[in-house]
Amino acid sequence: MKNVPEIFGSLVFNDAVMKARLPKETYRLLRRTMAEGKHLDLSVANVVANAMKDWATENGATHFTHWFQPMTGVTAEKHDSFISPTDDGRVIMEFSGKELVRGETDASSFPSIGLRSTFEARGYTAWDPTSYAFIKDGTLCIPTAFCSYGGEALDKKTPLLRSMEAINKSALRVLKLFGNEATRVITTVGPEQEYFLIDKSVYEKRPDLIYCGRTLFGAKPPKGQELDDHYFGSIKPRVAAFMQELDEELWKLGVLAKTKHNEGAPAQHELAPIFTTTNIACDHNQLTMELMKNIAKKHDLVCLLHEKPFAGVNGSGKHNNWSISTNTGVNLLDPGETPRDNAQFILFLCAVIKAVDEYQDMLRLAVATPGNDHRLGAAEAPPAVVSMFLGDELTEILDSLENGTVYDAKEQVLMRIGVHVLPKFPKDTTDRNRTSPLAFTGNKFEFRMPGASLAVASVNVVLNTAVAKVLAEFADELEGVEDFEKSLHTLIVRTIREHKRIIFNGNGYDDAWIKEATEVRGLSNLQTTPDALAHYTDKKNVELFTSMKVFSETEMRSRCDIRMENYCKVMKIEALTMIEMAEKQFIPAMSEYSKLLSDTIISKKSVISEIDCLFEESTLSRLSSLTSTAYSTVKEMKVRVEELQTMKKDFEKAAFFIKDKIIPLMTSLREAVDEAETICASKYWPVPTYGEILFSVK
Ligand code: ADP
Ligand code: MG
Repeated sequence: MKNVPEIFGSLVFNDAVMKARLPKETYRLLRRTMAEGKHLDLSVANVVANAMKDWATENGATHFTHWFQPMTGVTAEKHDSFISPTDDGRVIMEFSGKELVRGETDASSFPSIGLRSTFEARGYTAWDPTSYAFIKDGTLCIPTAFCSYGGEALDKKTPLLRSMEAINKSALRVLKLFGNEATRVITTVGPEQEYFLIDKSVYEKRPDLIYCGRTLFGAKPPKGQELDDHYFGSIKPRVAAFMQELDEELWKLGVLAKTKHNEGAPAQHELAPIFTTTNIACDHNQLTMELMKNIAKKHDLVCLLHEKPFAGVNGSGKHNNWSISTNTGVNLLDPGETPRDNAQFILFLCAVIKAVDEYQDMLRLAVATPGNDHRLGAAEAPPAVVSMFLGDELTEILDSLENGTVYDAKEQVLMRIGVHVLPKFPKDTTDRNRTSPLAFTGNKFEFRMPGASLAVASVNVVLNTAVAKVLAEFADELEGVEDFEKSLHTLIVRTIREHKRIIFNGNGYDDAWIKEATEVRGLSNLQTTPDALAHYTDKKNVELFTSMKVFSETEMRSRCDIRMENYCKVMKIEALTMIEMAEKQFIPAMSEYSKLLSDTIISKKSVISEIDCLFEESTLSRLSSLTSTAYSTVKEMKVRVEELQTMKKDFEKAAFFIKDKIIPLMTSLREAVDEAETICASKYWPVPTYGEILFSVK
């Protein structure tokens, strides 16, 4: 391993490089742009571009690209080389400020329903100077936002940046009331990434893994994760070599890769970075996912980022640790030491509580993907009901505030705002509930619903915007009041009273909780992606995003359609893959094995007519019945998939049709085939089994 501090950030055009390579004045103007979102003059951009190009070519780059995050959820790039011809038939390497700041791209191949007319298919990418440029595979990558010419966001980054601006504005208003001198508020994110690593040779034999990233068939192996012997277990040499290379490449790109370990299921692992500013954390997580896949290939492994690659063992999530801090280095979700800090903390905490309660459906639908539908509520990940875990101590403090009682008997002096000097929270006591969708873990919230493949931007847009909205409401109420402490107290008590239904410290996997949550507390329980997405453009949600200037109503309608359509496409691919595997692989295999059994029965009986053929006859009979079920289910699935064509652009209708009519057939087909797998002889089974896949990396 090379010297880590030396390689860290070596492929990033970071602050140190800028300082060293840019003229002082250019550096100052660029820093100001980064800190305050000020406009960057073209003459300044030219100087920056040239320095970037020199640095990049010295580090082996020949091309540049505007690196962006369209609605597909993966990153996109179009490479241009730096070459520029000269009169004497040679080339020089050139890169202009214009090319740095803005790029044009044909937007028609990216999802953008309702946002562009076909004659106006151009989109443009705009440099996000708050995220550093970096070199990947010989290309200088410039993190950019992707918009239509009308200014509508076509990507995940633009709304995220808008939401960061919204929370900055609202939070500063609130902080001012406390005499806090911060001039910028950001949110921070540390996304823990789970993934599976399997051997390439088994992957290549499974069309379902190749087309869908998950297995659509597969009987349970004799050993799954029941022995708990994988979690935090020692890492196999091949996996360790992969992890080491991954760390090294991530460090070069300035990604703060910190923790790596084995996860609960066999072949499952996790990587967690140190948290950073939200939009950078999102960029870094996209890079991490990309590098995981590419580096795995070099090791003859395949990295699966699907939320549920295998039934019966844990799926993979992406825990989104989120907090709010100031440019003066204060974490606003840290309870702090003094009564003033404590009061400020309680108010921010209340803002999060209210935001989560009021926009629980938005948080749920931010994580709604076909893959995550298999994971949420499967007793391995939080349920589809959003609730918050605060821990007993903090909950008691809120109770005592609400009821005007003294929380700590020793603490007799009640401040007028009703906030005691909070006890120091031992962090451990708040970090034990693994079943909560959104857990307070001492100085941040851990949102555990996102699935492994999700672009984290989407959940943070919701968290940032919802909290921004509530903070703005709080500021409206508190600004200019005569008696600040009294008004603050009233606001805190009212917020707790009105929104405490969202707080739940018990076991989120328990069925009794779902009953209580929905029947007693009235929390929403949107079980599947279509159910959740149907609420995307509810009036209250449109009001939230338009008032905070994060999305226009058109953008929201477009995004909702894009996601419904994506659900339909993914599910259709899964259905077609199942049909193909059943018709071309499983049913023929079942039939072939049945033939062997029948031939055996005939030949046994030809020798001894009364001979016992119990095994052959009963297996043949069961297998024939499973074959019939599989065959008729496939036939019905084909008809249903055909029916989908008639729904054309009505994505919502198609999504519910899939959920209600096609998924149940997929389930029956799988059941029949999985049972057949358990009774067919191994050599007849056409694809690697769960056992062979999950334990493929020796
Ligand atoms: P676990 O949930 O497995 O116990 P850790 O407690 O080690 O994990 O950390 C989880 C993640 O939370 C890490 O990525 C860490 O950097 C991140 N984190 C810590 N503090 C903050 C914060 N203030 N804002 C955002 N993320 C944070
Ligand atoms: Mg965690």
